[in-house]
Amino acid sequence: MISPANRRGRLSGSSQFPRVIALPNLTDSPHQVDLQRMEEAYALALQAAHAGEVPVGAVIYQGDRRIGQGSNQPIAAADCTAHAEIIALRAACHHTANYRLPNTTLYVTLEPCAMCAGAILQARIQRLVFATPDPRSGAAGSRFQLLQCDALNHRCEISSGVLAEPCAALLRDFFRRKRKNFTPV
Ligand SMILES: [Zn+2]
Repeated sequence: MISPANRRGRLSGSSQFPRVIALPNLTDSPHQVDLQRMEEAYALALQAAHAGEVPVGAVIYQGDRRIGQGSNQPIAAADCTAHAEIIALRAACHHTANYRLPNTTLYVTLEPCAMCAGAILQARIQRLVFATPDPRSGAAGSRFQLLQCDALNHRCEISSGVLAEPCAALLRDFFRRKRKNFTPV
């Protein structure tokens, strides 16, 4: 959990992925709950980074209960579908013994891809909160809009920008380190 001081100033992480950020003081804001839950998703993204995976984390809440969580792990799992959202959705379905997840909110540090947006629709997630957009493959409005498509039978409320800068910085740092360590064959 990130301390209130760290939300506004230096965001703690590991020494490997230090963050220096400036955030507005959101204490007593109606978005405070979203911020706290996105911090949990951020911690999962950090775990993914430490494991050498693209740093994305996700949590799912039903009311006040956290019913699922996931960190990106396609490499370790040798599974192209092992995105953070899919891991969290599977955990939540298992936890509730229900393939639908009504009255839930999914928090994820990066805008979902088309695969994850499809799974979000299948699960009937009520609301999606994502931190930072993915202009290349985001399917919640950046590249595609699958979650509010009139042709489909479920639409998902979308909020974005919660903890956006630290989540984006984590991704930038990760790919910068990858490029730095890349040795052409
Ligand atoms: Zn995805």
